[in-house]
Amino acid sequence: MRREEIIKALEADDFSEYYNLARDLTRKHKGNEILIRAIIEYSSFCVRACAYCGLNCFNDKATRYRMTEKEIIETAFNAINVGYKTIVLQGGEDPLFIDGEILANVTYKIKSNFPDVAVTISAGELSDEVIKKIRDAGANRYLLRHETSDRENYKKLHPDSCFEDRYRKLKVIKKLGYETGSGFMVGLPNQSIESIADDLLVLKGLECEMAGMGPFISHPETSLANCENGSAEMTLRCVAIARILLPDANLPVTTAVGVLNSEMRQRAFLNGANVIMRKVNPEVYKKAYELYPGDLGETNLKKERMDLEKMIRSVGLIPV
Ligand code: SAH
Repeated sequence: MRREEIIKALEADDFSEYYNLARDLTRKHKGNEILIRAIIEYSSFCVRACAYCGLNCFNDKATRYRMTEKEIIETAFNAINVGYKTIVLQGGEDPLFIDGEILANVTYKIKSNFPDVAVTISAGELSDEVIKKIRDAGANRYLLRHETSDRENYKKLHPDSCFEDRYRKLKVIKKLGYETGSGFMVGLPNQSIESIADDLLVLKGLECEMAGMGPFISHPETSLANCENGSAEMTLRCVAIARILLPDANLPVTTAVGVLNSEMRQRAFLNGANVIMRKVNPEVYKKAYELYPGDLGETNLKKERMDLEKMIRSVGLIPV
């Protein structure tokens, strides 16, 4: 799809032709399987000032915590024991993690005990050397959303960085042999439909192996507290177009979609998405990792996984 067609599709009254195409491509390229990933949010400390994020360094109301290396490893092993085959390690840009030592050690520990389990890193813009060090320790994938392709809006939302740096980092990640994931938020303040089309084309340009698209959700302790949330429907349209552009990619139905409307998750699975992530943090560290407000139930690793599997089976698909 070209830019003009993407814009027209995103704005169309009737999107069903694209949903149908996305569904057919998903079944053809990804089968009937939905991949379930475990995500461990190891630190809520962050030096960055991302305007939308509840963990940005100016939010002095945020609860800050960091897990120890031992706790992260234990949490990963617990998740693997109940059936998870991918561990995603996500955190703010915490000075204590910036040298990659802990992430490399955790990765090595997981991979040497469970060679078939994949490790995904989502730790922001670490230095090229550190990203390589973690790759050398065995990490398989790296998630780094480009957030928005609108350079001006990017600068407004991230006064401490720029789109070009983020994009260059994605290229480094790809070159190091990581399966590379980018993505963006839908419904950011001042975001145009044209820039969403460009976001989708950025995913294509990078030939991403993974892409996460989630609605912007306003956090009350940020400068965007009074802005409207993004639309779940528009997000699903973006996932469908991403499937058409990148038929082999792994595309999650993001947590933010589920926060806005949990039934949208089933719809996303029938219209292009083939991945879902589940927080597996120990209870004490769960609510504090608040990128955006959302209802979080109690942690029960086994039950939560079984509930997800049931939800996936209810639409005729196979949880993996
Ligand atoms: N520090 C890491 C992880 C960031 S959190 C990094 O920089 O990559 C993961 C993703 O959550 C972000 O990339 C962003 O797209 C999303 N996110 C953060 N705040 C959000 C909000 N208020 N609404 C929706 N998504 C948000």
